[in-house]
Amino acid sequence: MHAPSRTTSSDRRPLAHDWAGRDRAGGTLIVGAGPAGLAVASALRCHGEDDLEVLDPGGGWLERWHHRFAAQDIAHLRSPAVHHPHPDPFALLAGAADGELVRAGQANLPTTAAFARFITTLVEALELQHAVTPAEAVRLDIDGDGRACVTGSDDVIRRPERVVLATNARRPSVPPALRAWSRHPCVAVGDDADVRRTPSGGEVLIVGGGISAGHLALGAVARGARVRLVSRRRLMVRRYDTHPTWLGPKKLRPFAAEPDPERRRQLIDQARGGGSMPHWMRRSLAQATEDGALVLHQRRTIAAVRPRRERLAVSLDDGSTSEADALWCATGGALDASTDPLCAALRRAHPTPIARGLPELDAALRWPGTEVHLVGAAAGLLLGPTAGNLVGHRRAAQRIAAVVRGDDPVRADRVTTGAGACPATAGQRLRSTTRGA
Ligand SMILES: Cc1cc2nc3c(=O)[nH]c(=O)nc-3n(C[C@H](O)[C@H](O)[C@H](O)COP(=O)(O)OP(=O)(O)OC[C@H]3O[C@@H](n4cnc5c(N)ncnc54)[C@H](O)[C@@H]3O)c2cc1C
Repeated sequence: MHAPSRTTSSDRRPLAHDWAGRDRAGGTLIVGAGPAGLAVASALRCHGEDDLEVLDPGGGWLERWHHRFAAQDIAHLRSPAVHHPHPDPFALLAGAADGELVRAGQANLPTTAAFARFITTLVEALELQHAVTPAEAVRLDIDGDGRACVTGSDDVIRRPERVVLATNARRPSVPPALRAWSRHPCVAVGDDADVRRTPSGGEVLIVGGGISAGHLALGAVARGARVRLVSRRRLMVRRYDTHPTWLGPKKLRPFAAEPDPERRRQLIDQARGGGSMPHWMRRSLAQATEDGALVLHQRRTIAAVRPRRERLAVSLDDGSTSEADALWCATGGALDASTDPLCAALRRAHPTPIARGLPELDAALRWPGTEVHLVGAAAGLLLGPTAGNLVGHRRAAQRIAAVVRGDDPVRADRVTTGAGACPATAGQRLRSTTRGA
């Protein structure tokens, strides 16, 4: 495996000069080693593309994913076992052992442990163990040909043939009354909220009405805390965050045919419809309420927060006030390509419509006029409301792998199984390392 062409800071010159006469060797630089980055790396490897490097300050694959699942004490995925970063939807099912899948309606959901083992197996089978460099992409510049130059926190300047931004650069949305307190020691926002830090025998107030808020509430209850869950809407029960009809042509065709990016943005919001949780979680919350461990405040928001000794006094808009040892904010977040620093040069050199944070991309998910692809939720205007989910990551990866090998990205965006999905490992089954153990 070769890394894309790079120079160190010792031979760095001002960028305008840097470009002139430099060898621009091929290769793909993926920024972000989450599931979206891994899906792209896997699809490229499956089609024999060796020349890739991945940047992530975590230094390994799916570090943020694993952290979140541990922090929220999540036992199994919300999505079915056919959704994962490998190009073949059946790759995980083929190697899953008894007890590694949880039945939910017609679907099998992988346990968190089974999914993690599958990722390890996939990374090893495709020889991606050493692909991740522990560095952050701190700057992205664009040359006259639309090719990117990426500066890493390791002081290396990379000039790959193409860049894939898989950073999931979401900023957490924090309710207005909480903003001034988001750094208070009792407060944890987004990925920082962690059930392993439940104050033993204490009081935890959780803000949010989606599956993350539900996991945090149940995790804190299980650890002996008294919990209040404050949701600005009634808790919504749905098996998946987006209705499965969005996986097929009935919804996706008219979405793709819609010329107005603002309208497509609106369709995404309508389809996702804010936070929701599956039935089993809603039932568990009801049980915890009956047991006296949980108080639900639905259709309520936080009106004011005041520190009170080591704790916080939190007032709701119904006039009630309670004290909490910990306040966890699980109110989601949003991407915004119009403020993302890694998109600054793209915006300047190649303006494209941005519909409430999401950029209009070409069919290969490139920022138009450049060799920079965007995957994950950032590709929503092209891929629809599931762009940020595992199934969307695979579709994005198939489109990018197709243009790299000179194929039509739109034709490549379909379900392919077996040898066709991963010619490089045809005949080799991806078995979970614990199968039969
Ligand atoms: C708790 C939780 C459970 C979920 N469960 C499911 C599920 O069951 N099924 C499903 O389909 N979806 C699920 N999702 C939604 C989605 O699949 C995940 O959020 C997934 O992690 C998104 O993948 P990603 O690669 O886009 O982003 P991330 O997993 O967030 O990875 C982005 C990576 O980019 C890195 N990065 C960021 N900026 C830079 C930079 N400048 N330079 C280098 N690296 C950078 C980060 O360190 C990170 O490792 C879940 C989401 C959450 C929060």
